[in-house]
Amino acid sequence: MVKIILATSNPHKLDEINKINDYSDITFDVINGNFNPDENGQTFKENATIKAKEASKTMKTYCLADDSGLCVDYLNGLPGIHSARYAPTQKEKIDKILNKLNGVPFENRKAHFTCAMVLTDSNGNVLHTEEGKVYGYIDEAPKGSNGFGYDPIFLVEEYGKTVAQLSENIKNNISHRAKALKPMLEWISNNL
Ligand code: IMP
Repeated sequence: MVKIILATSNPHKLDEINKINDYSDITFDVINGNFNPDENGQTFKENATIKAKEASKTMKTYCLADDSGLCVDYLNGLPGIHSARYAPTQKEKIDKILNKLNGVPFENRKAHFTCAMVLTDSNGNVLHTEEGKVYGYIDEAPKGSNGFGYDPIFLVEEYGKTVAQLSENIKNNISHRAKALKPMLEWISNNL
């Protein structure tokens, strides 16, 4: 049995990670108290490393961090690592992107979600890193009510739906988080 602390205070990430995890001998728990380290890295991986190391310092055990965000090609990759702080509210974040893309044709609205996951040991040493991406387009208006964050404007072409219109099961099969977590779980299962 391996118990891992998730270095996040985002309940949506915890929920998705628990649902993607199909290993009965690996369990995830949340970090105690208010977790808000200074994410001053230049990449998703650097920020995930900062969070995992900080969590290991306090919790003195295996910690897993997820740093993720939305990268829009037309905006040169923004909001990217600034996704969580791009505007004060989620509605304002979404509106900011939609306004900047106003009138931009479908073929130029390409975007992807990225998720970097970093696992540290009880001393804060990095044990393993994974990265997952899912590609799509920015829709013209928000649609759907599932998921969180930018899901209502991220269109998955294969389904012709935004992530917020997809079922939880489908999102957790195709998402950037699933693509990073599945190989991470396999590594944990083989090595811890
Ligand atoms: P982080 O906590 O610094 O990794 O911030 C991630 C931010 O990226 C979140 O606050 C969301 O706005 C966005 N984000 C990350 N993953 C997802 C997702 O699965 N769906 C929609 N938005 C996401």
